[in-house]
Amino acid sequence: MENRNAELIEKILSLKQRRKAVILVHNYQLGEVQDIADFVGDSLGLSQNAAKTDAEVIVFCGVHFMAETASILCPEKTVLFPDMDAGCPMADMVTAERLRQRKKELPGATVVCYVNTSAEVKAESDICCTSANAVKVVESLDAKEILFVPDQYLGHYVSTKTDKKIILWPGFCPPHIRIQPQDITRLRREYPQAKVMVHPECSPEVIALADEVLSTGGMCRFAQQTEANELIVGTEVGIIYRLRKENPGKKFIPLSEQVICPHMKLITPEKMLWSLEEMTPEVKVPEEIRLKAKAAVDKMLEIGRG
Ligand code: SF4
Repeated sequence: MENRNAELIEKILSLKQRRKAVILVHNYQLGEVQDIADFVGDSLGLSQNAAKTDAEVIVFCGVHFMAETASILCPEKTVLFPDMDAGCPMADMVTAERLRQRKKELPGATVVCYVNTSAEVKAESDICCTSANAVKVVESLDAKEILFVPDQYLGHYVSTKTDKKIILWPGFCPPHIRIQPQDITRLRREYPQAKVMVHPECSPEVIALADEVLSTGGMCRFAQQTEANELIVGTEVGIIYRLRKENPGKKFIPLSEQVICPHMKLITPEKMLWSLEEMTPEVKVPEEIRLKAKAAVDKMLEIGRG
């Protein structure tokens, strides 16, 4: 089995070279996919990397809106996405059509879209944000009223950090809302020295009990910098693999083992190899939508990390 895996990885790496490809992998992906990445990161880090790579092909291992973001930023590159079924249920909770209707009801509002949205929704938005920079993006705007789509929990978290009026959209991340406040209470009793870090897609009740509220990239940096040796982690469990690999002396405890995003687990090394061999499936955003969506993404990239 091990030999077969080694052979598979060797084939992926040599084909990657031949195709002049770069492999970008989200923090929630399977450990074996993270291991063959050129870059593992959060949505913002992946967008920044996609924008600056000089590779001709991007193999994107994450969910569909992330591959679309790469296509928005790099129209001249081939963006391979090894499993087209890997969508994001939260991103599907807002459509361009419904957003257009809501904008008519709120003519004075500036639209901030979480990066977890389709290219069409980005094209209808004024500016994009990620969980790493949402507060900074909102604060940068010369607007009093913000329509924040689609994550009501990230939007609520931002509203606690700004004086601006934030109008929420009723979207949410199904895995993150499984985390309950009592999960924190129970684990704090068990690990009294541990620091608790949670993602802002969690509910306000969970956020209120945490020590740190961080994007996945922020969690990776915090884990390296903190003096705490035990960390309780409130986000999708895939990140635990990276945290343990980068911090072998520290203990990482998932806040809930149930926070699994099945969509994030669809990409496998086998599918990556097939994708590189066949140069398919490819994600390509139509030019008219791309240009509008790019304006929203570019504004966010100018602001950078929070
Ligand atoms: S973890 Fe949540 S936000 Fe991320 S891809 Fe899965 S459903 Fe979407």
